[in-house]
Amino acid sequence: MIAPHRLRGDIRLDGITKSFGETQALAGISLAARPGTFLVLLGPSGCGKSTLLRVVAGLEAPTGGRLLLEGRDVTGLPPAQRGIAMVFQSYALFPHLSVAENIVFGLRARHVAAAERQGRLAETAEMLGLTKLLGRRPGQLSGGQQQRVALARAVVAQAPICLMDEPLSNLDAKLRAEMRREIRALQQRLGITMVYVTHDQAEAMSMADQVVLMRDGCVEQDATPAELYARPASVFAASFIGTPPMSLLRLVSGQNGAEVAGAPGVTVAPAEAAGQLLGLRPEDVAPVDGPGLPGRVQAAEFLGAETVLTVAVGDGAEVMQVRVPGHHALASGTPLRLKLPPAVHLFDSTSGRRLP
Ligand code: ATP
Repeated sequence: MIAPHRLRGDIRLDGITKSFGETQALAGISLAARPGTFLVLLGPSGCGKSTLLRVVAGLEAPTGGRLLLEGRDVTGLPPAQRGIAMVFQSYALFPHLSVAENIVFGLRARHVAAAERQGRLAETAEMLGLTKLLGRRPGQLSGGQQQRVALARAVVAQAPICLMDEPLSNLDAKLRAEMRREIRALQQRLGITMVYVTHDQAEAMSMADQVVLMRDGCVEQDATPAELYARPASVFAASFIGTPPMSLLRLVSGQNGAEVAGAPGVTVAPAEAAGQLLGLRPEDVAPVDGPGLPGRVQAAEFLGAETVLTVAVGDGAEVMQVRVPGHHALASGTPLRLKLPPAVHLFDSTSGRRLP
């Protein structure tokens, strides 16, 4: 038996399903977040991220499965009895209330005493840099400030679990990057468990302790950002993470082993890999003077610190991307040779799963 205080912020989902009529939004989700974890639900539009978050919040009842928060089965409990705070994409601020009133609204509803409310309000406003804005209405704030008020409302509740659904999608790129760091720092400072929904892989990779990559209502991979990048479990995971994404090349049978289709004479993998897919991250490959995989530059995209080359391999049947540090103004058609890394990623061409 685990001591109750060790479970503060602990989340467990066991076979959660959810159908809307004919649509199965969640096809059996099991996962666990240990206390203090920043967990990101990542995946393309329609994969079920928001539905899953709403099930955890209690805004949506699952069709099947169990939800345990802090060791307690809360599957049938209403949102208010779950000990969670939530931040929505739209902020959901009351336009006719001041910033201060917006922040303490939930505390009032829960009949927290006035002195306690004031204390928590002052502390939270200070933490989020809102002290000077407490008298304003939401309409008198910038997008970033409104976002902070929404965060403050979650923080002031002192809930051990906080849920956020794409909270940064209404902000411009620079502010978004700033708020990412701020939310991550806040989560660590408060030691709360965060479940954060995004479709932005860079956001997921930079903020998360644990990424749950979803696809069609299922968990595709549940891993740390580093694991997800280094050992993607499938072609889907490999293609979803990384900019530019991993290149995937078809392998055929050659004289001494497997070769890239259209590039005979260069063995790139053991013979049994023929028929499967070879995965190469753009930074794992480099142009060389000596022997290597032959190709021709199709395009060179200069990004400042590096250049991304699009290279047609061999006779051009397969195309890949290569990341080269610095500026390289290579004309289209320039021939080159590529050195491959000692260990490559291999995927089953039918199932898309990673081969060990
Ligand atoms: P997005 O990033 O676009 O918000 P998502 O990954 O959050 O997508 P969900 O909003 O959870 O995906 O939707 C998952 C599936 O369930 C979709 O096919 C969606 O159309 C369907 N769905 C969600 N809510 C409802 C609803 N209230 N009624 C019917 N179908 C729904």
